[in-house]
Amino acid sequence: MKSKLFYLFNVLNPIKKWRLLVFFILLISFKFGNCSNGKMEQKIYLVFRFDDFSARSNTNLEQKIIEIFRKNKLAFTIGVIPFAGAGSLLDPTPKGHLPLGEEKGNILKNASHQGVVEVALHGYAHQSHSEQYIGSEFKGLDFEQQKEKILQGKIYLEEISDSKINTFVPPWNQYDDNTLKVLEELQINNISADRFGTMNNKSSIQSLPNSCGLSSLKQAVKSARKSPDKISLIIALFHSYDFIEENKRDGLFNFSDFSELINWISKQNDIKVLTIDQMISELPANYLKNKFELNRKIIAYSFKTPPYIRVKPNYSYASEDYFNLIRQKTIAFYFIIFILTSTIAYLIINSLKTGLMKTRSKSPKSSHRSWSRGKITWPIRC
Ligand SMILES: [Zn+2]
Repeated sequence: MKSKLFYLFNVLNPIKKWRLLVFFILLISFKFGNCSNGKMEQKIYLVFRFDDFSARSNTNLEQKIIEIFRKNKLAFTIGVIPFAGAGSLLDPTPKGHLPLGEEKGNILKNASHQGVVEVALHGYAHQSHSEQYIGSEFKGLDFEQQKEKILQGKIYLEEISDSKINTFVPPWNQYDDNTLKVLEELQINNISADRFGTMNNKSSIQSLPNSCGLSSLKQAVKSARKSPDKISLIIALFHSYDFIEENKRDGLFNFSDFSELINWISKQNDIKVLTIDQMISELPANYLKNKFELNRKIIAYSFKTPPYIRVKPNYSYASEDYFNLIRQKTIAFYFIIFILTSTIAYLIINSLKTGLMKTRSKSPKSSHRSWSRGKITWPIRC
């Protein structure tokens, strides 16, 4: 077998030999590129963001969620609607509001005082503001209109939960430049929407968009551990409608799965669970802005990468190093494919030629034709 391979290698012309060598070098570097990652000390910063806590939401379920976090000594960010719309939230026609109320305010107050939750403002009523902007409570409104809603919501929520509001979570993740200006004026320093939101480099507002849901959280951790990043960021968003107990038809997990997941997270030494405000305070200035911009580049690039090294833009926020590694792997992958296909094509053509030559050597007529092209040198019978 060994001598056969050696023979095959020897019959190749120098260009083909070079190609084969490059192919094996790339294959080895491609393989070992992953191994060095495991040697670095990594840390995963993880935020749980739970949205839609309101006068309309399931208090029993919410208390159980808070209890699970408390039991595991973890904290999470809770997006609270201070004056939930009474009718359909998508319907822009006013149907009245349901203020959060004292009972729910006390739940937040206790959990916040115990360090289990960060109370974030999740809009005013979580209601579409016009037919033109269904699924948006703020985007499209002028500065004063947005300011009025956010200010009222902030004052009420701070009072009822006895917490300082530092984070704004726009309903349906919809916001615009005016929202950022209002937040700056009202000294709400952070915004958490999705990764497609408006970016404004002049704004001082720190953005920490969600990166995955709870059902993809373990994949997010796996992908972060594979990356060369010293710090990976994961922002896992969930709602009460993700629970099967709350939503039999479209729920994604039951409460026991959720409880196991939180318990598993609490046992991972490389994962640090923080609230949005805590994570933003821990990271250097502009760190998140760069991540946010980079993530968009990665999303655009991810469509070009082969599936098995594809970046999962929904899962975690990667660094420039990780992005470069993915880029190198992609270039190497396509180069290997090129070398491989051209080598196979060369071998096939070569073996076909050899077969043809053997056939022609048995036929006097065909030998004459081949000789006439100057390729065959054996005696010719005319
Ligand atoms: Zn919401």
